[in-house]
Amino acid sequence: MQIILAPNNQHKVSELSDIFAQLRLPISLISQKEWFNGNSPEIEETCLTLEENAIKKARAMHAMPAKPVIADDTGLEITALNNAPGVFRARFAGEHGNDSANRHKVLTLMHDNKDRTARFRTILYFLDESVSFACEGSCTGHIALEESGIHGFGYDAIFIPDGHIQTFADIDSSIKQSMSHRAKACIQLGESLSRYINP
Ligand code: IMP
Repeated sequence: MQIILAPNNQHKVSELSDIFAQLRLPISLISQKEWFNGNSPEIEETCLTLEENAIKKARAMHAMPAKPVIADDTGLEITALNNAPGVFRARFAGEHGNDSANRHKVLTLMHDNKDRTARFRTILYFLDESVSFACEGSCTGHIALEESGIHGFGYDAIFIPDGHIQTFADIDSSIKQSMSHRAKACIQLGESLSRYINP
């Protein structure tokens, strides 16, 4: 089954494709960019919750190509910052998608804060002709004192998952994919999709 992934984020396509392969699900993910031959429309993530953003992205994509769609919306919620950046993670430092500036802003705001607890939360929303469902996964941990690591993307270099002493960007991507927020949401999604594909 071929499914389009919104938004246009190659890291998410790779992570989700690997997780689907581990779960032996016959799903081939295609990015928005690939589907539209490089001219994919920009869908503004203007909603106030991850859930609303995911539904908005899925509906917008589904209206255009009439294919099954999965929309991923993920936020980093930091307790000491009243759950910011949260849903506003991509523009946290002002410029959309400037991951380095976003990480720097988090570390600056957190400087000597003792409570460094945080969690990543992912909503995956599946939409096809007659079916839609949302799945959620979260991963708790804490914010590192400084950036570290070369793997992953976004905030991975400043997030240390519970039970580890290194950031998501330090550890091998296969370990992140076995325990991450996205992996947990994906396992739920896989179970629902299996019932949909093989009723
Ligand atoms: P988008 O939903 O693809 O627009 O993602 C927005 C931003 O959230 C990304 O640029 C990343 O900074 C951050 N993000 C989303 N998922 C993850 C993740 O799994 N690890 C680290 N950062 C993430």
